Amino acid sequence: MAKISKEHHERVKYFKCEVCLKDIPIEYYFTIGDSITCNDCSTEYVLQSKIPLELIRQAMDYSKLDYDEPY
Ligand SMILES: [Zn+2]
Repeated sequence: MAKISKEHHERVKYFKCEVCLKDIPIEYYFTIGDSITCNDCSTEYVLQSKIPLELIRQAMDYSKLDYDEPY
C-alpha cells in the first residue's frame, strides 16, 4: 500500500530551520562540512552529521560588517 512513497525515502532529508521554522531539504550528496543556506531566511548552516541529521547554525559576523560600513 505505501510502497511508492519509499522510493523517495533516504534521498532527501529535511532539517527544520531554527530561524523561520521552514524545512530545508538536505540532499543526499551533501557531505559533512558543507554549508547549507536556508532558502527562506538565508541563515547559513554547516552540516555536522548526517545520521542523525545535525546542522550547526553559523553566527553572523556583525563586527566585520561594522568595519565595512560604518554609520
Ligand atoms: Zn530559515
